[in-house]
Amino acid sequence: MTILEIKDLMVFYENAIAINNVHLACRRGEVTGVFGANSAGKSTLMYTISGIILDVKKKEKMRGGERITVLGSILYESKDIMAVEASERARMGIVLCPERRRIFQESTVLENLKIGGILAKREQGKKTMEYVFNLFPHLRNLKKREGGFLSGGEQQMLAIGRALMAQPKLLLLDEPLLGLSPLMEEILAVAVKNINSQTGITTLISEQYARPILPIIHYGYVLENGSAVLEGTSEELTDNPDVKSAYFGL
Ligand code: ATP
Repeated sequence: MTILEIKDLMVFYENAIAINNVHLACRRGEVTGVFGANSAGKSTLMYTISGIILDVKKKEKMRGGERITVLGSILYESKDIMAVEASERARMGIVLCPERRRIFQESTVLENLKIGGILAKREQGKKTMEYVFNLFPHLRNLKKREGGFLSGGEQQMLAIGRALMAQPKLLLLDEPLLGLSPLMEEILAVAVKNINSQTGITTLISEQYARPILPIIHYGYVLENGSAVLEGTSEELTDNPDVKSAYFGL
């Protein structure tokens, strides 16, 4: 069963097309991957699903800047959410862990997590925090450290932990492995897999390089210049000879 279904999605920044007629579905309880090079449209897709694109659009309008147009439909739990504000979508369970972490640099690890859990019930928050520290035991020793003093990998752990604190039903991870070492990529890919298998949270993850993520996804899409040019199960994508060298560096 799908929790998210995107149909005929088009996003324009002024006259430039960033998402071109994309159809995509996330099945409940699965990890779905979106792969694509720089500028393929991954972040725009994440912004559009989380609703942040509506805020960007408003800001641009106030500044008299570029016109952002979003067309098509996004069904979440069978409800059309195209006009629903980002904050409301977060309450409905769509939680974005943005590209480049964006943690609060001057707040400690503990504070970052508490901020993430601001909408959660007290007991829920406590339970999730314990889960985050079990998922990333390394973070437990860094509770009092300010975000800005963490390494890139630690910041990414914190960003994922903060997103989990918001009690997602659909977790959006925008390039969580960006700029990390192969070892840290592996640790985080395993963590994403564990989140999914242990909590059942549906996950949509975008990455430029598919290799570390392919083993943990159930289904994936390849974006090229805003269009979904290819899709399939993890095995289908891995085995497709045409895409191996072009997209996956295999
Ligand atoms: P990256 O890996 O570099 O983050 P991406 O796949 O996330 O790339 P997007 O950031 O979604 O791609 O960008 C898709 C296209 O839309 C690009 O051509 C980009 O230049 C353009 N774009 C993105 N944001 C804006 C904006 N605010 N105004 C104008 N064009 C934009």
